[in-house]
Amino acid sequence: MKPYGDCTYCGGEVVECVQRVDYRLHGQLYILEGVPTGVCQQCGEQFFTADTAHQMESAVTETKGPMETVPIPVIAVK
Ligand SMILES: [Zn+2]
Repeated sequence: MKPYGDCTYCGGEVVECVQRVDYRLHGQLYILEGVPTGVCQQCGEQFFTADTAHQMESAVTETKGPMETVPIPVIAVK
């Protein structure tokens, strides 16, 4: 059973690993820990199952407060 299928961008194999991911909701950036993520072995694109996407949203909307808050550097390329 392959929950992610092949990469929709390059057709590469998508393998699940649990990692820290950036997540944006209503313009606010969050960093979520321990997220099961499908990662394309060719291009590195990340995929989430519908279940995981739902859990990520609940985690953010129902949290009683973050584990920690980190400053995020903002850098202009041009
Ligand atoms: Zn890919």
